[in-house]
Amino acid sequence: MANWGFTLLTDNHIYLNNNNTSWFKTVIAKEPSILNCISCGSCSATCSSGHFTELSMRKINVWLNRGEIEPIKNQITKCMLCGKCMLICPRNVNTRHIILILHQLMSKETTYSFQSDYDFKK
Ligand code: SF4
Ligand code: SF4
Repeated sequence: MANWGFTLLTDNHIYLNNNNTSWFKTVIAKEPSILNCISCGSCSATCSSGHFTELSMRKINVWLNRGEIEPIKNQITKCMLCGKCMLICPRNVNTRHIILILHQLMSKETTYSFQSDYDFKK
C-alpha cells in the first residue's frame, strides 16, 4: 500500500464523569472571571515562561474545565507570576490569581507548599 505520509490519530476519549472537577469549582468560586475565557491563546503567546517551558495558561484553563488535574500540577510550578498574561487577556481573566489558587489547591493535596501573603485580587 502506498505511503501518503498521513497517520491516523489515536483515540482520545475523555470521560468527564471520572475526572476531578472540584478544582474548577473552587477556582470559579474564588475567581469567577475564569468563566470568561474563550481559549484565544493570547496569554500563552505572551507568557514569559512559555517561551522556555511548556507552560500554557490556555491549556491550564481547558484542563481545569475538563477536570484533568495532573498536567496542571506540573505546569504551574513554571509560572513566575509576572502577570503579562493578565494584562493581555481580552476577556479580563485574572490569570495570575487563578495560578495562585491552583498553588494553594496543590499544597493542600501534597507536602508541596507555596508561601505568599500577597492577595492578587487587590
Ligand atoms: S488570554 Fe484570556 S481569554 Fe484568552 S485564553 Fe488566555 S485567559 Fe482565556
Ligand atoms: S504570570 Fe505566569 S502564566 Fe502569566 S505570563 Fe507570567 S509566567 Fe506566564
